[in-house]
Amino acid sequence: MPDVSTAPSLIGMKPEQLAAAVVAAGGKAFAGRQLAQWLYEKRVADFNAMTNLGKELRARLAHSHTLLTSRVIAREESGEGTTKFGIRLHDGLVIEAVLMREGERLTACISTQAGCAMGCRFCASGKQGLKRHLTAGEILEQFYHVGAVLRDEGDSWLTNVVVMGMGEPLHNFDGLMGALGVLNAEWGFRFGARRVTVSTVGLPDRIRQLAQQGYQFNLAISLHATTDEQRTALIPTNVGTGLRAIMDAARYYFENTRREVTFEYTLVGGSNDTPEDAHRLAALLHDFPRANVNLIPMNPVEGSGLHEPTGEAVDEFTSILQDADVNVHVRRKRGRRVQAACGQLRLRLEA
Ligand code: SAH
Repeated sequence: MPDVSTAPSLIGMKPEQLAAAVVAAGGKAFAGRQLAQWLYEKRVADFNAMTNLGKELRARLAHSHTLLTSRVIAREESGEGTTKFGIRLHDGLVIEAVLMREGERLTACISTQAGCAMGCRFCASGKQGLKRHLTAGEILEQFYHVGAVLRDEGDSWLTNVVVMGMGEPLHNFDGLMGALGVLNAEWGFRFGARRVTVSTVGLPDRIRQLAQQGYQFNLAISLHATTDEQRTALIPTNVGTGLRAIMDAARYYFENTRREVTFEYTLVGGSNDTPEDAHRLAALLHDFPRANVNLIPMNPVEGSGLHEPTGEAVDEFTSILQDADVNVHVRRKRGRRVQAACGQLRLRLEA
């Protein structure tokens, strides 16, 4: 009998894999479909509740496989509709997920890696490097944890998903696609691709690969600078890529998916927040079809040596873009009180 803690999880499996697991446990293949309904349509991660599966089959499945492998160890409310979850994985690593409530809009922000290899200077997630990729199942488990809270709050469900938590999603391409595949599938969560946004540091080859997957996910690119020198100072991986290749890949994504691309721009005080930067950004996006810009005033990160922009700098930067007809939004500092800046909750929990 396998040790339950090392048994594979059923969460993240495709129907044919679920059917194979059922057959291996002595059941009939069609029960794999019932299993998919429980796991993905009803989001029930409890063998005992799967009452249309025979008792013996459930017992055998519970020996050969696990369901949730992670658990919530901390939950913090911001008081402005944001809940942050600290989630411990089976091997002790801690990741985060965030639930944001804005009227009818219920958005989950999910992680794809424990830690991050990108090392952006203003980001807390990458401070200790990459610990490991999350499996597709571990990425999906975050929806069960967030979903449990929503269920308690009156049986509501998410309207949007943003892959903007810990990690670089396109660095864990297989895990990401495994999870988003289940999220979007008819037999899965049936969650519309147009309500999912993948945020990337800007890995050109992977952006093209994502464009070829046949999905209509929204793409957000963390641009953060308008010259390669400036960008490399904030984002070390820019050395091997460069703005030009990122903009070309962004255009390719738009042309292949017809989804608008959002450019994220974290404003770092005295670094990339001058009027000249704003003018250069407007020029860079001048030819880009239907580009959006999300300005994010930097959340302070201890030890980064970088600081947030002044309110005046944010306002001036915004109006320069508006005057140049760029579609621009300033991201409200949602959840700062719950340490919502990328990765900061985890640092505290692991300390
Ligand atoms: N790896 C992905 C997702 C990371 S987090 C990416 O790079 O896009 C999502 C966004 O938050 C990114 O744009 C990231 O640059 C930004 N971010 C990270 N730390 C921040 C901080 N301290 N203040 C403001 N924005 C930050």
